Amino acid sequence: MRVMLAQPRGFCAGVIRAIDIVEQALTKFGPPVYVRHEIVHNRHVVESLRAKGARFVEHLWEVPAGAITIFSAHGVACRVEDEARARGLRILDATCPLVAKVHGQGKRYVAQGRVVILVGHAGHPEVEGTLGRIAGPALLVQTEGDVDALELPAATPVAYITQTTLSVDDTRAIISALKRRFSDIVGPDINDICYATQNRQSAVRKLAKLSDVILVVGAKNSSNSNRLREIGAEAGVPSYLIADGGELDAAWVRGAAVVGITAGASAPEELVDNVISALRQLGPVEVSVLPGIEEKVEFKLPAELLPRPRGVRARAI
Ligand code: SF4
Repeated sequence: MRVMLAQPRGFCAGVIRAIDIVEQALTKFGPPVYVRHEIVHNRHVVESLRAKGARFVEHLWEVPAGAITIFSAHGVACRVEDEARARGLRILDATCPLVAKVHGQGKRYVAQGRVVILVGHAGHPEVEGTLGRIAGPALLVQTEGDVDALELPAATPVAYITQTTLSVDDTRAIISALKRRFSDIVGPDINDICYATQNRQSAVRKLAKLSDVILVVGAKNSSNSNRLREIGAEAGVPSYLIADGGELDAAWVRGAAVVGITAGASAPEELVDNVISALRQLGPVEVSVLPGIEEKVEFKLPAELLPRPRGVRARAI
């Protein structure tokens, strides 16, 4: 069996930064540090940070007063940040800078007097965070049908923004529907969807042309991992989302000459290795990597975690 790995796959710069923030906070301040929501949508990542002393909570009332509190890569609504400040929690914000960029777009459009329409998935923490950052009229659409159902006059000044981990093709179709529906509409270019999302989706499309079956390594609640599986399936290749090698079903790969593997932006490479090991249990495996984009994007850590420049002394508080 040949195993072909998509390039790029797995961790993006926003996920690396978020995990770094938790690890650096543990080193600098000592455990426990509190993380609101899963720092990224991957159980293995969460468990490994938990073992180092991170405590994951869904509500701020679970965090003791004054404790270090980290907001996840998905971002949070203003009311969550206000609540944290009111409780005197020490905040470290791991919101991905590309999610924060979408927050900024939403705020700017509201300031221009436009109704903001967010293209995204209801209930996803990023969507809740983004809607909760916009102090003005904001609506969510998930499908082209939702666009038709919007109860707004066609001449309403509107602006669209997008969740960062959507399918580029689906989003393009929804934006086209919005442009047909409204005469005064603005929004960012489709290429503004996160670079990591676009690159992983392009890579899985290439992978689908060469594979008999595709395995996407990622968590069931990971939006970008689900999109990768859907893109593989839409290309006509049986595609499965699995957390690790333990979830591999031998029947999926029986008779397959080429098994394509990719990984969502929150899935560590060790889980890809784990899936390859599970395939090796079924027979000999030859692994190759499909040529693709090499990503060089890096995001800076928050100032509180950067090493102090030499010669600068800590101030007594
Ligand atoms: S997928 Fe994109 S937006 Fe989401 S954390 Fe990664 S870099 Fe940021």
